Amino acid sequence: LAPIHVIGGGLAGSEAAWQIAENGVPVILHEMRGVRGTDAHKTDGLAELVCSNSFRSDDATSNAVGVLHAEMRLAGSLIMRAADASQVPAGGALAVDRDGFSAAVTAALESHPLITITREEVTGLPPDAWDQAIIATGPLTAPSLAAAIQERTGADSLAFFDAIAPIVHTASVDMDICWFQSRYDKVGPGGTGKDYINCPMDEAQYNAFIDALIAGDTTGFKEWEGTPYFDGCLPIEVMAERGRETLRHGPMKPMGLTNAHNPTVKPYAVVQLRQDNALGTLYNMVGFQTKLKYGAQAEIFRLIPGLQNAEFARLGGLHRNTYINSPTLLDRSLTLKGRPGLRFAGQITGCEGYVESASIGLLAGRFAVAERRGETPSLPPETTAFGSLLGHITGGHIVSDDEPGKRSFQPMNINFGLFPPLEPGTVTKPEGMKRFRGKDKALAKKQATAARALEDCARWLGR
Ligand code: FAD
Repeated sequence: LAPIHVIGGGLAGSEAAWQIAENGVPVILHEMRGVRGTDAHKTDGLAELVCSNSFRSDDATSNAVGVLHAEMRLAGSLIMRAADASQVPAGGALAVDRDGFSAAVTAALESHPLITITREEVTGLPPDAWDQAIIATGPLTAPSLAAAIQERTGADSLAFFDAIAPIVHTASVDMDICWFQSRYDKVGPGGTGKDYINCPMDEAQYNAFIDALIAGDTTGFKEWEGTPYFDGCLPIEVMAERGRETLRHGPMKPMGLTNAHNPTVKPYAVVQLRQDNALGTLYNMVGFQTKLKYGAQAEIFRLIPGLQNAEFARLGGLHRNTYINSPTLLDRSLTLKGRPGLRFAGQITGCEGYVESASIGLLAGRFAVAERRGETPSLPPETTAFGSLLGHITGGHIVSDDEPGKRSFQPMNINFGLFPPLEPGTVTKPEGMKRFRGKDKALAKKQATAARALEDCARWLGR
């Protein structure tokens, strides 16, 4: 069999190369470190962890990333094998000795008879002679390759920074305070005139909120990141600093909205939440990209009426991050539309985190092997963590229809909001329990979602 080329020996590329080779197909892995570095990597080791040494929770019974760990182990993941072998104590989290981890991955790949590693920068899209290739060059993709991707996919299809607004679990929004309505009841394509969740503020609440935003602790940009403020994408706290009324005339304007719970009193300001996934289980806070520290975000955003008990699927941020607009560019098996045989994997596809990036590398590797063998790639069930993350990347998100040109696809960690809801009646009150609500019910739902995912994943893998 002809080799499959993998570009980038990070978390995703290393896992993809391993999966391909373990399935009997030769691989050529192209990694530029050793010849050219990035602004964040410090070594030449494959699968280097650039920041934290944690793979987050290892609880596969009620934590979404723990479920992803378990699915990857079931699928014979090298990244998980190396992580397990270099584990350091970290409570319920899976944390690793970063050097031991990278050394284990590097040794496994270097010693595999079907893997060839070349230390070189790939400066353009793979040549036609590489009929099967995976681009897994990560958030710090070298500029020449990034430019080639951009040329091929269009200027709007490649982002160099993520400007992320927080995303809340819909079930945690207090709908006794908030209401559904689009501004001026506007009905866009596929809309109903009730597409947004609105959180009203009176004048005192607004002023207290602005004070909290201005006083909130922020994180700085790294020296090499520059300060990528551009129009329409200012952090919310920077807007607040520019003038007390700025937000009320910007993302928090109350125009065209009537409080369904109190129609005679006009809100002084309104925070709008927009549906973020096809399932409607997640909503993002419109215009709330921020550099506030995570702790400050949770505290300050819970001051918003209706969000007092908000559970965040992800908090906001603004970072250097190269990623493509996958929902429009990739098909379900991660292939670039119009370029058969060329796949993307890892953080460049719009997932976030070591584990998520590696898991998408795992899938891309398996899909490429199937294609090399003339088979149709077998997609993971949507109920699995693999399938839920793949759904987010390849089409789960809605592109805003009332703000043309605005991207609503933003990188995301795995979380239960990405999984399809359980069948009604799956979770019932345990015998002997008096009240079955709130945290108990939420935990039971997570446990049932996790169990369903692992069962369906095992079946998918033929276990
Ligand atoms: P990477 O692991 O970055 O691998 C990409 C590889 O491609 C690199 O080895 C690079 O050298 C190589 N490459 C790039 N361009 C070329 C080219 N043209 N030719 C050949 N090789 C090339 N995630 C977390 O889970 N926890 C964290 O704490 C965390 N902190 C982060 C801090 C920073 C500063 C950054 C930038 C990211 C952080 N992330 C963190 C995200 C993290 O980078 C990703 O989750 C993960 O490393 C992505 O895996 P990947 O394989 O897609 O990319």
